[in-house]
Amino acid sequence: MLDSIGRKINYLRISVTDLCNLRCRYCMPEDGLCKKDHKDILRIEEIEDIVRESAKIGIDKVRITGGEPLIRRGIIELVEKISRIKEIKDIAMTTNGILLKKYARALKDAGLNRVNISIDTFDKEKYEKITRCGNIEDVLEGVKEARKVGLAPIKLNTVLMGGFNDDEINDFVNLTMKENIDVRFIELMPLGQASTWAKENFIPNTTILDRFPELMPLCKDDKGSPAKYYKLPNGKGRVGLINPISNHFCSSCNRIRVTADGKIKPCLHSNYEINIRSLLEESIKLSDILKLAIESKPKEHTINDLEYEPVIRNMYQIGG
Ligand code: SAM
Ligand code: SF4
Repeated sequence: MLDSIGRKINYLRISVTDLCNLRCRYCMPEDGLCKKDHKDILRIEEIEDIVRESAKIGIDKVRITGGEPLIRRGIIELVEKISRIKEIKDIAMTTNGILLKKYARALKDAGLNRVNISIDTFDKEKYEKITRCGNIEDVLEGVKEARKVGLAPIKLNTVLMGGFNDDEINDFVNLTMKENIDVRFIELMPLGQASTWAKENFIPNTTILDRFPELMPLCKDDKGSPAKYYKLPNGKGRVGLINPISNHFCSSCNRIRVTADGKIKPCLHSNYEINIRSLLEESIKLSDILKLAIESKPKEHTINDLEYEPVIRNMYQIGG
């Protein structure tokens, strides 16, 4: 389906939980969050219905995210259900990778195509510091297992933070020289937990290109991907730059998001949400609710404007 300015919307991102087994400093409060009542979180069957109706109006690509999707009960069953919807051509997941060693095989068998794994540092102590509790060995084993079972391509997501991991840019970029893996640098966004300190720790992704002038830009073959891809000469993998702040990609935005508590967010950087359950109670059809969300996508976000109103939800509540 086309939105009001003619963008083709074919990508649905669903947050299946707002809980997480990590506490990344830019995403989660240190003491975690009040667990929502079970009934306030979309049931697996409700998520399946949303995907099925979305597929009828042109969604063919789904990403499952969170919070941490691998701690959601029924996650394998959900992947299986989505994989049976014939219009859906691509099912991906964004995960912190901690539980991937355990679940990669079952996910692949259920029909998951690929995973993006978040990892902001290769250093054990720094990883523990930024996640407040994580063990990097678990993630590295998860990456290995994902490769072994054929969840491909594997993309690593790295949030670039000044004074934290800018000294590891070389390690991340050089990994693409020897490994067939995509490393994607994401600019720190001023959302929720990070809304106050993002400005101090923000460094633009152009830093990567300044350090690696030999990175060659690649033709954009993945339409709708927010990443611009580059390659080192003779590199096996790619380096992706996701620049929501310094160079936003609103004009090619192809997505809508559904939060774990059943709100559709037409734009990540806006507080505007559509409450699915309350509209269903007013007897509005699910397909009309989804159409309304697509039609109400704004032309672009206003993060760089003076009057920008920061987004209240954290990424774990939106589904990053
Ligand atoms: N728990 C999973 C994970 O970490 O991959 C999925 C959810 S997480 C919210 C999705 C992505 O959002 C992660 O790659 C994370 O680094 C990113 N993220 C969270 N807060 C962010 C922020 N303020 N700015 C940029 N990226 C952020
Ligand atoms: Fe959890 Fe992902 Fe947020 Fe880290 S970024 S706290 S792993 S939801």
